[in-house]
Amino acid sequence: MNTQTSHETELLLNTVRNFMEAEIYPHEDMVDRTGEVPEELGRQIEARAKEIGLFAANLPEDVGGGGLNYSEMAVIEREYGKTTHALHSWIARPTELLLACEGDQIERYLTPCVTGEKRELFALTEPEAGSDVMGMKSRAVRDGDDWILNGSKHFISGPCMPDFAIVFAATGMDETKRGPRKRVTAFLVDIGMPGFDCREGNKCVSYRGYKNFQLSFDNVRLGPGQVLGEEGRGLELAGKWLGMGRIWVGATCCGKAERLMGMATDWAANRKQFGKPIGTFQATGFRLADMAIGLRAADLLVADAVWRADEGRLEDADAAMVKVFCSEMLNKVADDTVQIYGGMGLMEELPIHRLWRDSRLERIWDGTSEIQRHIITRSILRPLGA
Ligand SMILES: Cc1cc2nc3c(=O)[nH]c(=O)nc-3n(C[C@H](O)[C@H](O)[C@H](O)COP(=O)(O)OP(=O)(O)OC[C@H]3O[C@@H](n4cnc5c(N)ncnc54)[C@H](O)[C@@H]3O)c2cc1C
Repeated sequence: MNTQTSHETELLLNTVRNFMEAEIYPHEDMVDRTGEVPEELGRQIEARAKEIGLFAANLPEDVGGGGLNYSEMAVIEREYGKTTHALHSWIARPTELLLACEGDQIERYLTPCVTGEKRELFALTEPEAGSDVMGMKSRAVRDGDDWILNGSKHFISGPCMPDFAIVFAATGMDETKRGPRKRVTAFLVDIGMPGFDCREGNKCVSYRGYKNFQLSFDNVRLGPGQVLGEEGRGLELAGKWLGMGRIWVGATCCGKAERLMGMATDWAANRKQFGKPIGTFQATGFRLADMAIGLRAADLLVADAVWRADEGRLEDADAAMVKVFCSEMLNKVADDTVQIYGGMGLMEELPIHRLWRDSRLERIWDGTSEIQRHIITRSILRPLGA
């Protein structure tokens, strides 16, 4: 693993930082206060991101993307993590699942997502199937060459109303060594199709202004061209992307922790009680020391994971370790920052309360800490047959 930063990476970092200063940070407080990103602001971020080449930077150049590798994307995601998802998600990083598009799917779905003409949702979670993905009730049954889709999804998030959703549904059962298992297929489902309803769901107190949608499917007829990848291989298709998603969560957690730690350090050095800076009291100073240790370790875990990903040998447990460690590190940093600020940490005038609220989600989405620990445990015990 190489932890040295190249000249190109430094340039990339400066580009992203300048972009954030100019286009993102000035709007954070307004977005949190109002719980909305005005459409024209979102479109402006989108347009500026395209001008400087940050839009779809994650996808290969041969499909029109920026062609950055995972290590470079980690640098970007870490910077984005310093702010709110509600704003940085307008700088699209379309899901790599779309690379499975074939034939006219490329023109209908992949290319428009790369150019920003279309937005997608990744729809896996259901009201009764969150951690237990296999508990999904959404199902599609064959009708001639078509499929008829029924079911619902919730907590499906994005910056704005999408153009289509990648929907996971059971299309049968497979016999496996571990018993019967649902066959899951990914479908491309356009907004506006008869029987498909997509509406805004509950408001989340983390990343206010980042929308989540409820999807319902009532006998939605899908042609054979709506299957993404192979029938019955939906979860395998999602697997690689879910793993990288967990690493991006880790990188964003490092960015947010660095920002919080900067604020905590500043306050600890300047706020005086009993005639001394509060940072000179061991109870406060040690909090800063623990933040520094946690952040360094988290950054190294992310660097190790993206290196493995670039080498093509990332395991599920690698991504799970990153997700658990970085999100829990961030939550400790956020809570300790509030403590170091005392009462001021909870006042609306400062951004601490917002970053603290935003941090909480990181232990939940993309698979909870408990589920990540299950994945890690499985990787330890399975080789022993347990
Ligand atoms: C803001 C937001 C945006 C999201 N965006 C998307 C999206 O775009 N697409 C998408 O598909 N999903 C999305 N999700 C869903 C997210 O991935 C789920 O919320 C998450 O996986 C947890 O599922 P759940 O909320 O149903 O909790 P549950 O599965 O009900 O879990 C509740 C608690 O029980 C624990 N638990 C459950 N099973 C076990 C077990 N076997 N062992 C130990 N503990 C267990 C969990 O760890 C958790 O603490 C989003 C969620 C949120 C909040």
